[in-house]
Amino acid sequence: MPIATVDPATGETLETFEALSGDEIERRLATAESACARHRLSDFAERARLLNRAADLLEEDAADIARTMTTEMGKPVKAAEAEAAKCVKAMRWYAEHAEGLLADEHPAQRDVSDSGAERAIVRYRPLGVVLAVMPWNFPLWQVVRFAAPALMAGNVALLKHASNVPRTALYLQDLFTRAGYPEGCFQTLLIGSGAVEDILRDRRVAAATLTGSEPAGRSVASVAGDEIKKTVLELGGSDPFLVLPSADVERAAATAVTARVQNNGQSCIAAKRFIVHADVYDAFRERFVAGMRELTVGDPMDENTDVGPLATEQGRDDLAELVDDALGKGAAALCGGQRPKELERGWYYSPTVLADVTPQMRIHREEAFGPVATLYRVADLDEAVALANDTPFGLSSNVWTRDEADVERCVRDLEAGGVFFNGMTASHPGLPFGGVKRSGYGRELSGHGIREFCNATTVWHG
Ligand code: NAP
Repeated sequence: MPIATVDPATGETLETFEALSGDEIERRLATAESACARHRLSDFAERARLLNRAADLLEEDAADIARTMTTEMGKPVKAAEAEAAKCVKAMRWYAEHAEGLLADEHPAQRDVSDSGAERAIVRYRPLGVVLAVMPWNFPLWQVVRFAAPALMAGNVALLKHASNVPRTALYLQDLFTRAGYPEGCFQTLLIGSGAVEDILRDRRVAAATLTGSEPAGRSVASVAGDEIKKTVLELGGSDPFLVLPSADVERAAATAVTARVQNNGQSCIAAKRFIVHADVYDAFRERFVAGMRELTVGDPMDENTDVGPLATEQGRDDLAELVDDALGKGAAALCGGQRPKELERGWYYSPTVLADVTPQMRIHREEAFGPVATLYRVADLDEAVALANDTPFGLSSNVWTRDEADVERCVRDLEAGGVFFNGMTASHPGLPFGGVKRSGYGRELSGHGIREFCNATTVWHG
């Protein structure tokens, strides 16, 4: 993929960028190493001062960077502004809490004595230079949710961002520089994915985090495994959204629409498979389909737009193929099922609900990365849970119920990194985020996230 800003609303290439040369990559690695040697010695107060300054600057820049994101990947501008605000909040959260999250741990006195020690603690020390390979769908947030804890822990960051969001990638380096971080603490590398392997194998890089597709995750994790380097993987998802008999169907259906089309349907934690109990199926379907039909599809720069174009032409074509495969095998499109005819330019796809989906259809098992929902009717909770788990993915899940027995059953049995009851999945600074199965491993955010790139050091005194 060329490194370029291409407007998904028009298909027009606005700017192309040269990839870094080998010499330049070498210089950046050396800079990262020396920055790390200093940054790891800074105290939490200094790290918090820098991160709070970056948060203040981002808050001031929010409207501008939101338009940049919308230009590069097509999300509605109001959603882009919300993304910038969310980053500011997470930065301030880690600036405030990192010191407490990484405070020395004191094992139980009995265990200390048992080890023959007079005293023993666990200290969290930074790992070093961390390479972040990031996707375009939340081009600020994905980076900040890694960088804020990593920098607070005393690590330094190298960012390889998706090739279609270079302006946002360069903005991030500029933001941290303006905030006063010493040179090398946060560097953006404009490189193609082919350059990742050598960088990851370099002795100066300690670990990697990747948010993106399964093939990219497999590739980075294989190289890191070969080098015995720590990784965190946040990969795809096909989250189930269960609506059970005691649900507030009105609210469930309204939330279902938002949960499916947020970010033009291109979110790993978007609810994608709607699994509805027969008792409430008709009521839910009617409201959900009506809600999907009412969405305004169009120019993402317009404040009134709900759904903009998909980020890339390839992404739009892949989605259309998935839907066509299902329709060809007998699925019914309750709405959408094609590109909007009135929008000739740009990579738009109509909000779509598919019913009568069977396991023979690709969409039953593959992730639909766009505004396309699959709707299933089930007879009971056993069938709902079995269908929810019948996927290679395990990122998050949503359940609508007012029945405590349903709640316990779902917490026990749903194969996912999260279960959100009576609301939609979202990430929050203080709660861990991540998946199981093909959705990846490791956690971001909260104390779990900041400790991923730390060396939990046992300190034992005889
Ligand atoms: P992608 O193609 O995997 O790209 C993500 C990043 O990986 C980009 O920077 C890309 O660089 C790089 N990359 C691709 N192949 C690589 C390889 N073989 N080696 C090293 N780096 C490689 O993903 P996408 O299509 O942009 O994003 C959509 C996917 O991300 C979906 O599956 C979505 O569910 C997932 N996602 C997951 C989360 C989560 O938190 N779990 C969040 C957001 C998105 P180039 O751009 O240069 O190819």
